[in-house]
Amino acid sequence: MAAYFSDELLSQRYEVTKHNVVTQWFNMGAREGDYYLQCPCNQECYCVDWNQVPRISLNFCLYPGELDMFIVFRPMEQYGVKFNWHCLECSNELSCGYPPHGTE
Ligand SMILES: [Zn+2]
Ligand SMILES: [Zn+2]
Repeated sequence: MAAYFSDELLSQRYEVTKHNVVTQWFNMGAREGDYYLQCPCNQECYCVDWNQVPRISLNFCLYPGELDMFIVFRPMEQYGVKFNWHCLECSNELSCGYPPHGTE
């Protein structure tokens, strides 16, 4: 993944995605707790109810390294928010982690 993107583009994509994620979180009531980051290709394992762990839709498919930035940097941690892209029950991925080639 690093081979495809410069650091600049990478952080740009992260900022764009973070803005989208935080906006949705805010519009959903800005509650603390766990959230799932979900691909536009709708990966879903149905283990955990939507009310229990709300889903936040991404604008575009991200690489695992980009999704991990939400685990590493923990944006909104100060509000008690934790973003996940793996199911907390079965560890299935809710994001595909494989953006189609040529989309960036
Ligand atoms: Zn699951
Ligand atoms: Zn996807």
